[in-house]
Amino acid sequence: MSAPVIEIRGLRKSFGDLAVLKDIHLTVERGSVVALIGPSGSGKSTLLRCVNLLTVPDGGDIRVGEQSLSFRGKDTQLPTDKVLAGFRARTGMVFQHFNLFPHMTVLQNVMEGPVTVLRKSRPEAEARARALLAKVGLAERADMYPDRMSGGQKQRVAIARALAMEPGVMLFDEATSALDPELVAEVLGVIQSLAREGMTMILVTHEIAFAREVADKVVFMRDGVVVESGPPSQVIDNPEQEATRSFLGRIL
Ligand code: ADP
Ligand code: MG
Repeated sequence: MSAPVIEIRGLRKSFGDLAVLKDIHLTVERGSVVALIGPSGSGKSTLLRCVNLLTVPDGGDIRVGEQSLSFRGKDTQLPTDKVLAGFRARTGMVFQHFNLFPHMTVLQNVMEGPVTVLRKSRPEAEARARALLAKVGLAERADMYPDRMSGGQKQRVAIARALAMEPGVMLFDEATSALDPELVAEVLGVIQSLAREGMTMILVTHEIAFAREVADKVVFMRDGVVVESGPPSQVIDNPEQEATRSFLGRIL
């Protein structure tokens, strides 16, 4: 079996006196889907942000693909901008609020990163952007501006935009939490088709039924620690820990 794509060991992060991540260990196998669940404030977003270094950890080791970084508190040598850019390029992040560029069309939103960061030619970036828009069901909307679209459409553009950077891993932070209920399914459908294609993903989600269906591994976090992790049949259907049972009881 090939080595996991992501390996996190002993990850720690505090904001002031608040320890938000305490000795987190997590591995993500290539082509697998990990669902990260847990109460609000448990550190899920901070963990995702540490994976692509939007947040710099205080301690621990993170490996994404071939690239490893070790964090040792004040002694940590902060990664150079080049290393940071390399790390971020390996991970595509999709947020709860879509963060599209409002002054650009959908097509321009998806082409922007490949042209400015990956230095692709415009024709090449456009062809790829159109293919990705078709993949998320928005081929006909290429020339629209984001403010004319529904939340579900905007989130699908955000997914296409992240995919355009050719990431090895996709990170979704509550990608459907801001959507009207009738728009959730179209976004989950796109995530599911990515899973079928073998995209490696970490999903922070409150959609437990979806997590059960799509995830290879479910990780339950509370108060900055991983309480329990394993296949959905274990963590969701037969949780070992009382904390997991009580959380699932509240949201199912
Ligand atoms: P979750 O995504 O599970 O809801 P978060 O990772 O967003 O949890 O937050 C975990 C804790 O860290 C919360 O108490 C939150 O208020 C705190 N926190 C997150 N980001 C910051 C920050 N930049 N500065 C200070 N506190 C933060
Ligand atoms: Mg969060």
